[in-house]
Amino acid sequence: MTDERYIDPQEETMSRADIERVQEAKLLELIPWAYEHSPLIRATWDAAGVHPRDVRSLADFRERVPFVDKDSIRQFRDAHDDPYGGTLCIDESEISAVFSTSGTTGDPTLVAESVPRGETGPGGALRREFWEMGVRPDDLFAVMLFTFRGPGLSRIIRSMGAAPVWFDHHPDDFARFFAWSAALEPVALYSLSGPLIMALQYLAPAMGVDVADAMSCYRGIIYAGEPLGLRAKAKTDEWGLELFVHTGLGDVGAATECKEHDGCHFWEDGALVEWLDVDESGRGELVATSLDDRTAPLIRYRSDDLVRMTFDRCACGRTHGRFWPLGRKGDEVVVGGRTVLPLDVWPAVEAVDDCAAGLFQVIRSAREADVLRLRVGYAGSPALDGLREEVIASVATVVGVAPEVELVPNDALLRLGPPHKIPRVAKS
Ligand SMILES: [Zn+2]
Repeated sequence: MTDERYIDPQEETMSRADIERVQEAKLLELIPWAYEHSPLIRATWDAAGVHPRDVRSLADFRERVPFVDKDSIRQFRDAHDDPYGGTLCIDESEISAVFSTSGTTGDPTLVAESVPRGETGPGGALRREFWEMGVRPDDLFAVMLFTFRGPGLSRIIRSMGAAPVWFDHHPDDFARFFAWSAALEPVALYSLSGPLIMALQYLAPAMGVDVADAMSCYRGIIYAGEPLGLRAKAKTDEWGLELFVHTGLGDVGAATECKEHDGCHFWEDGALVEWLDVDESGRGELVATSLDDRTAPLIRYRSDDLVRMTFDRCACGRTHGRFWPLGRKGDEVVVGGRTVLPLDVWPAVEAVDDCAAGLFQVIRSAREADVLRLRVGYAGSPALDGLREEVIASVATVVGVAPEVELVPNDALLRLGPPHKIPRVAKS
């Protein structure tokens, strides 16, 4: 069994008709339950004049069900003094974990824990990606994480019979990471990010570490946070690392590349995913409904994420949909009739040697702008006037719009993180 490509062969390769049958059955169970238990869903549906009895099929769902989004959750939260924004469908006493950012610092030590192997639970579909990466029972799995640290990921890894080893998602933890990677030889890592790859590039030689050698035990590495830049990709290729791009599925789950590296797979037996308002260039908004979540289900959640998407079978044989993240709808700037997303600017910035880290922000005051304004990070101490001209020329060539450019040291932008990414759009 461990040589097989899929951990859940039947589910991962089921026909489109079977996927839709599963979705419809789960949806028709979820809807009355969510309407009854989620104050946000009930208020949204009542305002739209829709009742669960009006939804008897996937077609009804697509035609009638109103959307929710982050703003509607925030508004409900503020209006009703409800920290969960009206999404919580269970009694607070039933909550087993609340995930939030980790502020932990200090000098961690190894703590062994004993929990029965083979547990399953929410988010379990991630097992499929981890299996694809090469994780097998009795393997160790390095987890280098900053947020949602806690039982979720740990439980999923343990449900495969593997075991997590924890690190901080910070260059300060590299020494421990290299030492324990050598001693324990974990096979997978969750996760690298752009800032960590950049830090590895500069710090590893100073530490006397050959990254290719030190990380040769890793069969697969989750890459998360932001799109993978060309420079970072070239660097990790040089180190012989296989990265699996991993991104959010509209707050109802996650999507991850397989070994074909041709889009991020999402699992349609656990989520109903729609691709709406697709424009001529093939950019549409990802809208997702969680089918298995009874704690705080989101129904027709508009993610604000612009993606390319396909529901065609992947070369790996899996039949579920895939998408390519392009940016956030709210980050678009229209300059002289041309729509620009941070992802469009990225290759132009990192093509300039002093800006190879690809750290930049689009300065945005409104959707429409007369000029594209960028704040761009640089390494070292180059001659700024020449560098500015170089960045302007590169962006003009790649994006088709000549920008106004403010140059700042990379560190000034990295300080804006969370550690795995920086805000790509800033208000002026
Ligand atoms: Zn695939």
